[in-house]
Amino acid sequence: MRNRAIVLVVRQDDCPKTVRSQPTDNYEFWLPTMLLSETHIAIQDAVRAFTQERVRPRSRQYESAGGYPAELFAELADLGLMGMTAPGELGGAGSDYISYALALIEIAAADGALSTILSVQNSLILSALLASGSEEQKTRFVPPLTSGRLIGAFALTEADAGSDAAAIRTRATRVEGGWQLNGAKQFITSGRIAGLAIVFAVSDPSAGKKGLSAFLVDRSGRLRRRQGGAQARPGRVGYLRTPV
Ligand SMILES: Cc1cc2nc3c(=O)[nH]c(=O)nc-3n(C[C@H](O)[C@H](O)[C@H](O)COP(=O)(O)OP(=O)(O)OC[C@H]3O[C@@H](n4cnc5c(N)ncnc54)[C@H](O)[C@@H]3O)c2cc1C
Repeated sequence: MRNRAIVLVVRQDDCPKTVRSQPTDNYEFWLPTMLLSETHIAIQDAVRAFTQERVRPRSRQYESAGGYPAELFAELADLGLMGMTAPGELGGAGSDYISYALALIEIAAADGALSTILSVQNSLILSALLASGSEEQKTRFVPPLTSGRLIGAFALTEADAGSDAAAIRTRATRVEGGWQLNGAKQFITSGRIAGLAIVFAVSDPSAGKKGLSAFLVDRSGRLRRRQGGAQARPGRVGYLRTPV
């Protein structure tokens, strides 16, 4: 029991006398669904059916192949999972955060790595874009993200900066028509497949923690790799000031 993840939820029709237990052979799932609406339960059931049937049986295969096929992301997008809380007009599912959490639990039960990719796509990329992106950035990037055609990466961690994010050393320097980023990141989910990255860098060393900025980097052919750095071309780098 100690090694199992247990999610405690209480189902309305089971309350108050008991909780519904849904053990499978790899996870134990107790659902106190008294907080869940019919829609939540429908979403949970749909994601569970899809992931247990389509993802879990192939999880080892994806692991050995070192990645996921593009068709899988398209299927996940059809279910609304690539942009669960994004608004419908930008291709998102417009769901609430309870639905999102329930979906992630189901995906993680079938394939842990895939749930990490989807949590980055939804929570770190789409949420940041929707909260701080310009209208042009939202219009340009959100629809391909929610449709699964574009995968996002959130590049914060460095070799000497994990929990202490303010210790990052990647430098952002103004160059003609844009910014140049120099540095190295590690442990970046979707780092190899992402077409879009939010990259954190020190843009004003004199400002301490407030001198960090998040750069929206379009990697689809416009990011020029260099030794130890990358040149973001003029007009291609969205600049999101972050009060870190
Ligand atoms: C599966 C996975 C996916 C990831 N995806 C991403 C990603 O997409 N983008 C990204 O930027 N990063 C990503 N990371 C990196 C992750 O965010 C870092 O691993 C995390 O921030 C911890 O940093 P660290 O590994 O350098 O550990 P450290 O910061 O060195 O911490 C090591 C240990 O020290 C403890 N510790 C640290 N500071 C203190 C303190 N002040 N007081 C007490 N204890 C402390 C920590 O709790 C931990 O136990 C991912 C990591 C994993 C495992």
